[in-house]
Amino acid sequence: MQLEVPGQPLVARRLADPEPGAGEVRLRVEACGVCRTDLHVVDGELPGAMLPLIPGHEVVGWVDRLGADVAGLAIGQRVGVAWLGSTCGHCRYCRSGRENLCDTARFTGYTRPGGFASHIVARAAFCIPLGTADPVATAPLLCAGLIGWRALVRAGDAPTIGIYGFGAAGHLLAQVALRQGRRVLAFTRPHDLAAQDFACGLGVAWAGDSDAPSPEPLDAAVIFAPAGELVPRAMRAVRKGRRVVCAGIHMSDIPSMPYRWLWEERELVSVTNLTRADAFAYFEAVAGMHLHATIRHYRLEEANLALDDLRRGRFQGAAVLVP
Ligand SMILES: [Zn+2]
Ligand SMILES: [Zn+2]
Repeated sequence: MQLEVPGQPLVARRLADPEPGAGEVRLRVEACGVCRTDLHVVDGELPGAMLPLIPGHEVVGWVDRLGADVAGLAIGQRVGVAWLGSTCGHCRYCRSGRENLCDTARFTGYTRPGGFASHIVARAAFCIPLGTADPVATAPLLCAGLIGWRALVRAGDAPTIGIYGFGAAGHLLAQVALRQGRRVLAFTRPHDLAAQDFACGLGVAWAGDSDAPSPEPLDAAVIFAPAGELVPRAMRAVRKGRRVVCAGIHMSDIPSMPYRWLWEERELVSVTNLTRADAFAYFEAVAGMHLHATIRHYRLEEANLALDDLRRGRFQGAAVLVP
C-alpha cells in the first residue's frame, strides 16, 4: 500500500519482492500497526517523505532472506522493525547513546520503505528479536508502546501521571504506569465518553475531557494528542518542579501562556524517536506485565480505512494491518 501523493489515499501496487543489500534482511510481514505518525506522513504534515512510500513502522515479521554480511539473525526468526531504521553510528548523538537524535538517521515508513506490505527490507542491526510473541498483539508495542515508555522515563518518578490523548500509546502507557503502582488520569477529546469508559475499564483513577482543568495536581503529564492547546493546560496541571512531556512527532501550534505556568521549575520537554536501547529495555520491562493491547484488525488492503478510522477516532486502542 503505497503513498504516491501526500493527502491522497494509498494505492495498492503489486511490486517485485525487494532484495536485501549488505547488512540487510528481508522479512515476510505478519502484522503492521498503524500509528498517528503514519497519518501525519500520509496527510503531508511531515516534510521529506521518500515518495513513492510504503508507510508503516510497527512491523512484525519473520526473516525470509539474508543479505550479505548479516550476523546474528537466521531465516525464520521473528523480529520487529520500528521507526528508527538506520543511523550513522559516528555523529555526536550516536556516540553518546542518543542515536534517536542522529543527524542522518533514516526512518521506517518515512525515509525507508515501511511495513504496509507483504515484505520489507530492514537493516539487520535495527531488527528487534521478538521470539514467539503474537505478531498482531506485538505490533503496536513497537511504536505506541515504546514511545510511551520513553515518555514515562522522561516523566521521571511521578506518582500521579496525566495522559493526554488516550489512543494506542495512551492505553499501553496507562497499563505500564498502573503496574508500577502509579495513579493515572486520562484526558480524552472532549465528550469522548467511549474513550473515557475504555480508560476506566483499564483501571485509571479518573477519565475526563482534556479541555477541563485536571481534578487534581499531577506529578507528570504526557501528551500524545497532536493538539498544541493541551500544552498550557498540562502545564497548569503539573505541580512545582514537575514535567510535561510532549510525545508526538507533530503538533498544532502551542498557544502563548503566562510565564508563571512554567515558573517554579516546571519543565516542558519532548520525546523524539527511539533508540534500540529503549526497545530492549521496554521489552524486558513489560515481559511479565501481561499488557493487553486492544486491537482493531484490518486487512492490508484496508489501510486507507484504518487510517481514516484513526483520524476520526472510530476505535479504541490500536489498529493493526494483517497482510
Ligand atoms: Zn548518527
Ligand atoms: Zn509511530
